[in-house]
Amino acid sequence: MPTRKNPEDDLPEDRPEDEEEDDEDDEIPAGGLCPICESPAGECDHLVATIDLTYSEFVAGAIFVHERVILDLVEHLAASDPDALKVAGAGPVLEHVASLVRDETEEGVSAADAVAICYPQLMAALSHMMQEEEDVTATGIDAATGDDSSVENLWAQEPEWVVERLIERLQGLIEEVDEEGRDEGRGTKD
Ligand SMILES: [Zn+2]
Repeated sequence: MPTRKNPEDDLPEDRPEDEEEDDEDDEIPAGGLCPICESPAGECDHLVATIDLTYSEFVAGAIFVHERVILDLVEHLAASDPDALKVAGAGPVLEHVASLVRDETEEGVSAADAVAICYPQLMAALSHMMQEEEDVTATGIDAATGDDSSVENLWAQEPEWVVERLIERLQGLIEEVDEEGRDEGRGTKD
């Protein structure tokens, strides 16, 4: 690993760095270790998701087996009316994705392509939604050399539960949004 001089080292603020790493010739960056049990990613049962931020995909974790379900749900939401999402209480991050998608479609891009264009934001929204669960901790690994991807790991005591909660929330939002579409003109509910 190249030693990089950090100009911020001279700052008065004393920020302790992970110096323990030095005494071991460990290839695993700090972000690749489970914050709960300190196992490397993939060697314990605490990994909710590993998100490849460069390629906008899940590459590991409890979420992996449910990947298709979750992506179908969130793609549906991303292509929904941002205002309906707001009414449904989807939260600003998901609303933002939907408004980006709408901007694209208003410029003539097909809905599917618009969702594809906004995939980085869509993955970020999913990550955000999972991190809203109390139990979830995120660690990041930045691409070091350029041929690597930046990766985000999400961890929890019960990853399956977090994934189930995410699916439930997405399904609930879709029900609300679709209902909103049907009820249009019947006035707002509170
Ligand atoms: Zn663990």
